Amino acid sequence: KEVYLNGKWLKPDEAFVSVFDRAFMFGDGIYEVTPFYKGKGFKLKEHLKRLQYSLDQIQITFDAFSLEKLMLEAIDRAGLHNADAAVYIQLSRGAGARSHFVPEKIETSILLYAFGVTLEGFEKKTWHVMASEDKRWYRCDIKSTALLANVMANEAAISAGFHENLLLRNGYFTEGSHSSLFFVKYGVVYTHPEGPEILSGITRAEVINICASLNIKVIEKTVHFDELVEVEEVFVTGTTTQIIPISSITHHNKKVYTTRKDSLTKKLQEVFIKRTRR
Ligand code: PMP
Repeated sequence: KEVYLNGKWLKPDEAFVSVFDRAFMFGDGIYEVTPFYKGKGFKLKEHLKRLQYSLDQIQITFDAFSLEKLMLEAIDRAGLHNADAAVYIQLSRGAGARSHFVPEKIETSILLYAFGVTLEGFEKKTWHVMASEDKRWYRCDIKSTALLANVMANEAAISAGFHENLLLRNGYFTEGSHSSLFFVKYGVVYTHPEGPEILSGITRAEVINICASLNIKVIEKTVHFDELVEVEEVFVTGTTTQIIPISSITHHNKKVYTTRKDSLTKKLQEVFIKRTRR
């Protein structure tokens, strides 16, 4: 019994929620994905802190840190204590008669489970990506289960043979459909500042921290599409993505960037591996 749902551990095919669950009907829920390297949680507190932020933002009263024990139990129950894995947490507003206003009496529903994931070998990958308009809402800082725009953006990429879709808001890059985005220009690292346009990525924060430890300058500033001609390296980051260099960017069927260097990205990957695998 590996899936935790509202106080019970259930077999995956026995875990059901109400059809009136608001995450199902409205996308009125939030989620978090935390990596476990060989059974050991990485940046667990940071993930729970971000979960708490999302909960607070959508006004679900719940103590995110109370889930820490369940996360470890999920890894244990799934027999993943020696494997690379991740824990998925989803909190829904709960189930109630369908209405846009939130019913007064409603109980948060909690779903949590661990799953095996390949975290090794990411440093050997490169991604060819496309770029397109960012059609998401203006609260991308909330890790909402309402991911339709992300799913559509990613599907557009995958169906055209790309690995990811880099999103542009008014000509400026925000992030990928499921990853944070970095550029290197004249040896300086650029990434979109935190705010409503992006998710505050835990891996993004770790990469910024690694840069500081290597005396690499980071500027949290938007990069415009037209600046691509000056860009030396591009890479994306994420919990399961980790750090992956972008080898090309295609926009409206035209290649607008091909990788010029990879040395800085390689350095960051090296330190990242050391930190996650120690
Ligand atoms: N941006 C978006 C839109 C994401 O879905 C994700 C998560 N895969 C990220 C950034 C990366 O965040 P993290 O490093 O916390 O996984």
